[in-house]
Amino acid sequence: MKFNEYFKNIDENYLFAEVAKRAGDYSAANPDKKVLKLGIGDVTLPLAPAVIRALHDAVDEMARKETFKGYGPYEGYDFLRESIRAYYKDMGVDIDLGEIFVSDGAKSDLGNILDIFAKDNTVLVPDPVYPVYVDTNVMAGRKVIYAGANEFNGFLPIPDYSVKADVIYICSPNNPTGAAYSKEQLKEWVAYAKKVGAVILYDAAYECFIRGDGAARSIYSVEGAKECAIEFCSFSKMAGFTGTRCGYTVIPFALEKDGLSANKLWFRRQATKFNGVPYIVQRGAAAVFTEEGRKQIAENLDYYRCNAAIIAGCMDKLGIWYTGGKNSPYIWLKCPYGMGSWEFFDYLLNSAQVVGTPGAGFGKNGEGFFRLTAFGSREVTEEAVGRIEKMLNG
Ligand code: PLP
Repeated sequence: MKFNEYFKNIDENYLFAEVAKRAGDYSAANPDKKVLKLGIGDVTLPLAPAVIRALHDAVDEMARKETFKGYGPYEGYDFLRESIRAYYKDMGVDIDLGEIFVSDGAKSDLGNILDIFAKDNTVLVPDPVYPVYVDTNVMAGRKVIYAGANEFNGFLPIPDYSVKADVIYICSPNNPTGAAYSKEQLKEWVAYAKKVGAVILYDAAYECFIRGDGAARSIYSVEGAKECAIEFCSFSKMAGFTGTRCGYTVIPFALEKDGLSANKLWFRRQATKFNGVPYIVQRGAAAVFTEEGRKQIAENLDYYRCNAAIIAGCMDKLGIWYTGGKNSPYIWLKCPYGMGSWEFFDYLLNSAQVVGTPGAGFGKNGEGFFRLTAFGSREVTEEAVGRIEKMLNG
């Protein structure tokens, strides 16, 4: 027996563990100080009442012989897929029911989708970015190259035709930078992908935060994208499903190569390795799209958006360069005084007792940057911002 040696090539994932350790050590040494956390990427508001009611009703259905459900369809129940299709229709995007696959969250599908691609594909990943894209490919022994995101391109890299990639990851609005591509910018990526024969894996986990500004909510708003892109989305940030687990992936019928259909390969893959998302959870997810659900979810999103605006307002006041905060729950700021990411982390913790996430943990280009999130409570956000202002003004 041999283990998968490629695991040796994955960087030690120490970012959040190290953040927790430093914050814990500080609290232990300073028990009288209240530490405020703006580091986590997890939601804090509970599920919407409409979702809770749907979950309860579904539990009751499972209790009765006549309505009990066993294994469901691999690709998800039609009632949820129809709602997802209608959601896209409202965005002006037409997708077929057969192109929608319900998942237990975007993370699983982002990793599992690699089953349908050959091992010798070269993978292009933005730097900095959500670490899952890199780690899943390194585990599988694939070559990973990087598209440099930085202050000069607003953390939105554009295609470089001198680079040959087969699989391209785009995350928009981005985690950790909060930067979101416009439709015009996505057109450039679609044109590049088609030219070089690549597929785009488009992570739209934060699309629900987009509010105008020309930012695109789906890559399929770009003509021709169905021939070269797969889109991943999630109820996690949209409706607080981080612990409930539900998402969906759109794999267009038009995505074909060498006589193989991505949609058919994925269906085959799911039928082999996945037995679907719980009926109860899918009923809860479908409630997100009801009139009542939409209204309640919009209120929750507005709560986080308001937190983001409070943090962004603080950066504006202090004259600190940042991206995000508008179409995203993340504010990605340039560390003041030319500090490194961890240096600023320690400074902020020691001087203001505020915890954020060092940008260096998301890739080489993240060094010198720092992520704050809008997922905390209003009280914590306001207090943290007040302390940051005081620290940097004083
Ligand atoms: N994609 C991005 C960019 C994320 O930041 C996250 C979670 O933080 C996910 C995907 C995972 O989403 P899910 O909870 O649906 O697995």
